[in-house]
Parts: sequence; structure tokens; C-alpha cells
Amino acid sequence: MQQALIIGGGISGAALLHYLALAGEDVLLLEKGERLGGVIGTHRNDAGALVETGPNSTQTSSPAILHLIESLGLGGQMIQASPLARNRYILRGGKLLPVPTSPPAFLRSQLFSVAAKLRLLREPFVGRATVPEESVAEFVRRRIGPEFLEYAINPFVSGVYAGRPERLSLQHAFPKMHNLEQQYGSLIRGAIRGGRARRKGARQGETPRDRAKLISFQEGMGTLPAAIEQRWRDRIRLGTAVQRLERDDDGWVAVADAGTFRAARVVLAADAATAANLLQPHHSGVAGALREIEYPPVAVAVSLYRRADIQHPLDGFGMLIPEVEHRKILGVIFSSTLFPNRAPEGMIALTTFIGGARQPELPLLGQDRLAELVYAEHAALLGASTPPRSFNLTVWNRAIPQYNVGYGRVLDSIAGAELALPGLHLLGNYRGGVSVADCIQSARSLATAIA
Ligand SMILES: Cc1cc2nc3c(=O)[nH]c(=O)nc-3n(C[C@H](O)[C@H](O)[C@H](O)COP(=O)(O)OP(=O)(O)OC[C@H]3O[C@@H](n4cnc5c(N)ncnc54)[C@H](O)[C@@H]3O)c2cc1C
Repeated sequence: MQQALIIGGGISGAALLHYLALAGEDVLLLEKGERLGGVIGTHRNDAGALVETGPNSTQTSSPAILHLIESLGLGGQMIQASPLARNRYILRGGKLLPVPTSPPAFLRSQLFSVAAKLRLLREPFVGRATVPEESVAEFVRRRIGPEFLEYAINPFVSGVYAGRPERLSLQHAFPKMHNLEQQYGSLIRGAIRGGRARRKGARQGETPRDRAKLISFQEGMGTLPAAIEQRWRDRIRLGTAVQRLERDDDGWVAVADAGTFRAARVVLAADAATAANLLQPHHSGVAGALREIEYPPVAVAVSLYRRADIQHPLDGFGMLIPEVEHRKILGVIFSSTLFPNRAPEGMIALTTFIGGARQPELPLLGQDRLAELVYAEHAALLGASTPPRSFNLTVWNRAIPQYNVGYGRVLDSIAGAELALPGLHLLGNYRGGVSVADCIQSARSLATAIA
């Protein structure tokens, strides 16, 4: 009999295990796979490329992530992205154009028309929303016009959620942008006045997002869950897929092929569909709400080329593709520009994302057709002249949860189930933000609440 059981060892469950164990809780984590990390995973292929199966980096946008890294003794292995990562490219009219990073560059930029730039001047005078909830697309069209939706927000949203602005809820998917309008009545006014508030917050120890660093580790993102696994090995049962959840007088019973585990508390830290199946007998309402969450598929392709075989200078974070450009990929991260040690000398590594809510059929095309598709896009957009020396593909059939319009009902239903079922907690990227840093922050908050 444990004090707490955690079901699922992605970064959410793994970080929670770390915090609860540090707080002296008697906790056990059950993970169906053979390692911790969930979608986070790194390996080096035979050609010497560092292959990330999920995230390539994360922002240190919450204090929890830096605290976690330090408390695992990983500070020396953490690396910051190259200063070149500030450059980002967006495709317009078949050409890769740099995203402007200063007001003068914005005025000179060919990414937006003169009409769109003038439209931006009206933003401070646009009134607040008159409907209870807007999609990201509705909000952006209303405040800054359709061209910014097509050439800035649409590619940005596919870069974060692999999602579509027409479906995502502004309030739930981008709460900070929503709050800027609520608080200041304008994004531009909010950005100026919010700067003051952020400086004040910084004095009180918060890390403001504009100063947050883009980080990874020398040997990739997998370093983080691997360190948690090594530190708390005796509190982890790998290869243990929980099939059923039962309740008895003492609390919760998790039934897996590998055995039966009892605890006063249970934290479901698996994906929403798994949580739905486990909760169906106890609370069909929350099970239904969790099943409603859309998780489009995403394929992640890592291609290793000789430097000489790519024309583009690759002098940036990467490129994003707006939907109106009608290409077959969502975007490419210039992985070996971003961090050292991603490709052997004289070679470069590119990480390409395919599918998402925009083109959910593409990730399912199979390895050979996806290899051809990705090379054709690299040839057209980056000037690749010879197929890659190595190609590694990971397909996530259910990649990232979409915080779509109406998401408040899902969150209310989860909170209601936690109230109705004492000792039950739900944790994961379908709640509190999808980034690695968000998942760690959610885990830390839950650990504080429990301990
Ligand atoms: C392709 C991709 C790229 C991304 N890029 C970035 C990025 O660049 N930066 C960033 O910050 N974030 C990125 N993210 C988002 C971020 O990586 C994820 O949101 C986060 O890692 C999810 O962690 P999690 O623990 O909530 O879920 P998961 O990683 O899904 O973990 C859930 C775990 O539960 C386990 N499990 C499932 N069922 C059971 C069961 N019955 N019994 C026991 N265990 C079970 C699974 O095996 C898994 O290990 C990306 C995500 C993807 C998919």
C-alpha cells in the first residue's frame, strides 16, 4: 500500500514523482513503456545524427523547469540555443522570408503588405470581444486582420500545437494573449504596459517569457526523463500498463498484468484517452469529456545531409509554413544550427514536422512515401540537391491535445471528477499547457497540493 500511485511516466508523471519523492512521500510510478519520457526521447542513429522523437527544445518559461534541472544535477549538461535561433523563417509566395524582430525590420519586411501593416495601427482602437469565447482565428482577424492570421498566427499555431487557429480556443490555448485584451483592451497597449509589470515580476523572482531561454541538453531532451529514471529507479515499475482502476475502502487499486498496486491517492498522468478508459466505471461524465479532446497525428522526420548538399544558409531556428502556401509539411527545425552536437562534422540535421490538425492524413502515409515527401519539400524550399544520408521517422498517432473552443467544459468536468472522487488527480499536457515547461510546472503545483 503506497501513499500515492502515478500512472504514466511522461515528463508530467516523471516530474511529479521527483517532487513527491523529494518531499518524502511514499510514491510509486507505473509506466507502460520501457523507459520514462513519453513523447520525449533521444537516440543517436548509425550515421551520427541526434534523433529527437518529440520536442527538440523547451523554453525556461516557468521557474519549475530550472529548479528541476538543478535539483537533478543537470545544470552542466543544459545548453542554450545558438543566438541565431532568434532568426525564424516563414514561407510566403514560395520564398522563405525572415520574421522581423524589431519595429524597423517590421516596416521593411516583405512578409506583410503595406495594407496589413497599416491595419495594425488600428489595433489599439478595436473593442473587446462581444462573445463569451472566440477561436484564435476569430480573435486575430478581429484585432489585427486576416493577413496576420494567414502569415503569422496560422504557422505559429501549427508550430506550437500542430493545430488550426479556426478550432483552438484563444482563452485556453493562448491565455496570455487573451489576458492582454481583457486587462489592457489591446495587444499593443498590453505589450507596452505589460513590460512594466514583467519588470516588476522579475524583481520578485519570476522569469518573464521574453527573457526565458530556449534550452536542451548536450545529449538531447531525453536527458531529463532519463535522469529522473536513474534517480528514483526503485520507485518506478517500467513495462507496467495499468488496465483497470478500482476503488476500495483504503483508496485506489491499479490493476496491471504485472500485478496489483494500492494507494490512498492515484494520479492519472497518461494521455486523455487512457485516463478516460480507466475512469469510465467511476465517472462516465469525465470519461466522455476526456474522449472528446482532439489529438491529431504528427510525424517527426530527422534528415541528415552533407552541408554542401543544402543551399539555404540554415541561419536560424527553422521555418514555418502557412496553410495558404499549400505545402506538405508544417515546418522544419534547423536542429544542427540550434544546438551543437546534433550532426557529425560537415553534416547538418533537419527535423521536419508533418500532419497535425491541418493534414491529419499525411503522417499515416508510411516510411517510404514520407521519406520522398520530406526530401521533395527540402529540395523545393531549402535547395537540397541529394537525398539525405540518413532518415529517421517517428509517427505519433495522437500527438498533442488541442485546446479547442469549448475546452472550458472539459476542464470543468475534470475538476468536478476530482471533487467527486477523493484521492483522484489528473495530470498531463491536456491541462495547464502543452509545453515541456508547462507540464513540469503543473506537476510541481500538484506535488505542492498533495504534499
Ligand atoms: C512531436 C512533438 C513535438 C513537440 N515539441 C515540443 C517542443 O519543441 N517544446 C515543448 O516544450 N514541447 C513540445 N511538445 C509537447 C511536449 O513534449 C508534450 O506535451 C509533453 O512531453 C507531454 O508529456 P506528458 O507526460 O503530459 O504526456 P506523454 O509524454 O504522452 O506521457 C504519457 C505517458 O503515459 C504512459 N501511459 C499511457 N498509458 C498508460 C497505462 N495504461 N499505464 C501506464 N502508463 C501509461 C505512456 O507510455 C507515456 O509514457 C511536443 C510534442 C510532440 C508530440
